Amino acid sequence: MEKKKITVAIDGYSSCGKSTIAKDLALYAGYVYVDTGAMYRAVALYAMERGIITADSIDEKRLAAALPSISIGFALQPDGSQHTLLNGNDVESRIRTLDVADGASRVSTIGFVRRALVEQQQAMGRDKGIVMDGRDIGTVVFPDAELKIFATASAEVRAERRCRELEEKGTPKPYAEVLENVRERDWRDTHRTESPLRQAADARLMDNSALTREEQSAIIRRWFDETVNSENH
Ligand code: C5P
Repeated sequence: MEKKKITVAIDGYSSCGKSTIAKDLALYAGYVYVDTGAMYRAVALYAMERGIITADSIDEKRLAAALPSISIGFALQPDGSQHTLLNGNDVESRIRTLDVADGASRVSTIGFVRRALVEQQQAMGRDKGIVMDGRDIGTVVFPDAELKIFATASAEVRAERRCRELEEKGTPKPYAEVLENVRERDWRDTHRTESPLRQAADARLMDNSALTREEQSAIIRRWFDETVNSENH
């Protein structure tokens, strides 16, 4: 008999390796992977390109009117990675800048944006067999997920990792600026009134400050196997 599929919710601070955990696990489990941060980033990019979001303001009226014309999808690449599509266009590299990260963090504080994206995320997970990462997956999107993981690492470790990533992409930024960006996003994520970032009561904590990718991956796979086995009893 085929094993019953579960839903895996992964939440945590920015740049703490959530997407690495989620991608690894999705590959291991043969599940669909959904990066919800990319969805907030795509909305931000759309709004920034049209002047709906500027350096110091968001025109909420225009944003609400624009939302129905924003369609977000994901396209699997030949190398197994996933690219984000905005109205059919591949925007993967354009949504990964610090500017868009900042826009996404701001746009994600708006209730009507969250409600629209949460609805789409819930539809994507209707048949289970999904690994979704974000900030509110275990608390709001899938409160009944069988496996919930809350990832964290110190702000300094996360800023160092982010600096390395930016350098590899050929867009280096000073460490102090990146650390400031990490801290600012942490503050916004945990202090917003709409679905603030918090660990669900039944989430397992994964502090990966001092873990290698392999060590972390082994722990997560064990948690996954245990959960699937107990669900299939
Ligand atoms: O995870 P990532 O850094 O790509 O997310 C971009 C921004 O989107 C975050 O700073 C966070 O504020 C927001 N976000 C959110 N809820 C989610 C996923 C991301 O508020 N489920």
